[in-house]
Amino acid sequence: MKLLSVNAGSSSLKFTLFELPEKKELISGTFEKIGIGNSFYTIKLNGEKIKREVDLKDHGVAVNYLIEELTNNKIIDSLDDLDGIGHRVVHGGTYYNQSVIIDDKFMEVINSLIDLAPIHNPANITGIKAFRDALPNVPQIAVFDTAFHQTMEKTEYLYAVPYEWYEKYGVRKYGFHGTSHRYINKTISEYLGRDDLKVISCHLGNGSSLCAINAGKVVDTSMGFTPLTGLIMGTRSGDVDPSIIPFIMDKENKTCDQVLNDLNKKSGLLGISGVSSDSRDIEEGIENGNERCALANEMLCRKVANYIAMYNNMLGGADVITFTAGIGENSIDTRKRIIELVESLGVKLDAEKNDVRGKFTLISSDDSKIPVYVVPTNEELMIAMDTYELIK
Ligand code: AMP
Repeated sequence: MKLLSVNAGSSSLKFTLFELPEKKELISGTFEKIGIGNSFYTIKLNGEKIKREVDLKDHGVAVNYLIEELTNNKIIDSLDDLDGIGHRVVHGGTYYNQSVIIDDKFMEVINSLIDLAPIHNPANITGIKAFRDALPNVPQIAVFDTAFHQTMEKTEYLYAVPYEWYEKYGVRKYGFHGTSHRYINKTISEYLGRDDLKVISCHLGNGSSLCAINAGKVVDTSMGFTPLTGLIMGTRSGDVDPSIIPFIMDKENKTCDQVLNDLNKKSGLLGISGVSSDSRDIEEGIENGNERCALANEMLCRKVANYIAMYNNMLGGADVITFTAGIGENSIDTRKRIIELVESLGVKLDAEKNDVRGKFTLISSDDSKIPVYVVPTNEELMIAMDTYELIK
């Protein structure tokens, strides 16, 4: 089956076409600056990258270019060759605990959830509409960032705020990165041949979250009502005292939205280092003796370590710790420091094995109480796999 995995943002559209069940990647690419001028797209095919500057007035135009590329490059002969399309949808609220086939009812529900993800869901919906218009006969599937976390218990997903906020408005922890954490759990569980694993999955990228998983069910995760909370991220603050918001509004004469924007876009590694949100720049800063870069990275490592310790406790002892995403897969020093900080759990790294980037690897020593793995994530493949399962 040829299955397209789609991630639509407000001005971008990323796609990967897979052949399943072989899990073969046929073509991938990104449309950028849709509807804002100077638009272009890049395509990766047979190891080659092609860039074309075209006018992308809206997502519909991008979808038409995409179909043209698929046929021109003989990836498909006709539209009938496309078996299904899987869409990333950020927020499924409490309605969806797994991926679903998109129909008119789905469109109604997802529209009603815009309040919960005012930036992401409208962009996802725009992408879905563009594909439904262009390819009405191809089955389409929604894969949610939140769905995997729906197994959390009330004790974990509720905030200790007036209960009516939860009842009336759905104020609770939802969690994000679910597609990645699910992929990691599936990969490591299959590799170790177990379906009862207790996993601490560390997704450390520009956005970061930890997830505690027991036998395939999420026990807790570090992001919350929105992706702002939990760990220190590239530009997001992670956990802060909400009283800071009115305090800064008053001091800097800012609106609530402006302060929230500061917490989302000017905080985290960027906010502390004053240099960059990108961990490669932070590492370079540390090498050059920049103290604030060192401080930013140390704060990130301590936060991750403390969440690992908490999740180890919640799981009654984890069977495995995994690192994934940009930082988790590639930053040797960050992994080393985090593991040093959880030494009390008996976790030990093997420095030689840890000298690895972006490859599935056991990086802990033989006498480590909990084995630690680098497991590269692949959300696009997970979306295609869900699409395959739902339509096959
Ligand atoms: P992601 O959001 O998963 O794409 O991850 C982006 C983050 O991964 C950025 O902070 C990058 O700096 C970081 N990253 C990617 N490659 C490396 C690398 N080789 N060493 C350190 N950090 C990296």
